[in-house]
Amino acid sequence: MTVLAIAEHRRGDLRDASFELVTAGRDLADATGGDLHVAVIGGDIDGFADDLNREGVDVVHTVADGEEFNHDVYTQAVEALYDEVAPEVLLMPNTVNGLDYAPAVANGLSLPLVTDAIDIESDDTLAVTREMYGSKVETVVEVDADHVAVSIRPGEWPPAEGTGDAHIEEFDADIDESAVRSTVTGFQEVGGGDVDITEAEVLVSVGRGIEEEENIALVEELADTLGATLSSSRPIVDNGWLPKNRQVGQSGKVVTPEVYIAIGISGAVQHVAGMKGAETIVAINNDSSAPIYDLADYGIVDDLFDVVPALIEEFGGDPPEV
Ligand code: FAD
Repeated sequence: MTVLAIAEHRRGDLRDASFELVTAGRDLADATGGDLHVAVIGGDIDGFADDLNREGVDVVHTVADGEEFNHDVYTQAVEALYDEVAPEVLLMPNTVNGLDYAPAVANGLSLPLVTDAIDIESDDTLAVTREMYGSKVETVVEVDADHVAVSIRPGEWPPAEGTGDAHIEEFDADIDESAVRSTVTGFQEVGGGDVDITEAEVLVSVGRGIEEEENIALVEELADTLGATLSSSRPIVDNGWLPKNRQVGQSGKVVTPEVYIAIGISGAVQHVAGMKGAETIVAINNDSSAPIYDLADYGIVDDLFDVVPALIEEFGGDPPEV
């Protein structure tokens, strides 16, 4: 089975989703004795191609059109790549960009599209697992077709590592400029500066247990002391205490840090959907029956207003008065 995976980059860097796509694609290609092709469109294609040449990648296609993501360019380029590579499975990231072009590509190529995959198995047919009803139910979609497009959820596959011996090939997508109806004129970050919680290695995440906006300073100090990034559950954002780009969860961001410290967070399914991929989860919650303890590796069942200052002192910081 030939697999074609479309990498993603933004502002000069490949996104983690690209390397997760490589793992998903390689697993599928290996299981079926096929090849894995990866394509990168626009930006620093030579640098990106070197980085995408990870273990198990057979070919990296570079498409030298544009700098940043553009719907019309991506749609045309992916359709042209599909015609060239003729894959059985086309993999795209289920990210903001992926959700923008994947349906258009699937429509243009008359392919069935399964979105937001969290697992893919290949037997006689392709079986794609996805979640429904706010992650309460898992469904397996068996695709009765020879060719299929799948978008994969970020954070579900580990990023591919190692260096491969892929062929790197330039591909002329022959973009029809008259059909490119939008241009990227710049980036405007959603409040909160340019913090990207999806890239953080350590996240200190605060929830409703913090009680008041003034108390956020306490967890902020812990984050600073640990060299970590501050994130939160949804009520904190809904209250306007932290900007939207700090929200973890189903309607926020999916994060996969090495360490996730959940402070005063109950562990609702919609929150867990965004952080269950963290390597190590630490919970601080005074309710030992809180669902966060179902997935925490370490837990401190105590009052956060006692625990957090003690942690700040332990790691050499100066706890603020709250
Ligand atoms: P709570 O559930 O109120 O939990 C607070 C926790 O703090 C409790 O467990 C309590 O025991 C503990 N606590 C209280 N005081 C202390 C103390 N002094 N010391 C220690 N612990 C203490 N939520 C998200 O987070 N992200 C999302 O993206 C998201 N998307 C949603 C999408 C939809 C469609 C819907 C319906 C909901 C969504 N939610 C989301 C909301 C979600 O259902 C929960 O309401 C939310 O996650 C709860 O946030 P919390 O854990 O901070 O608050």
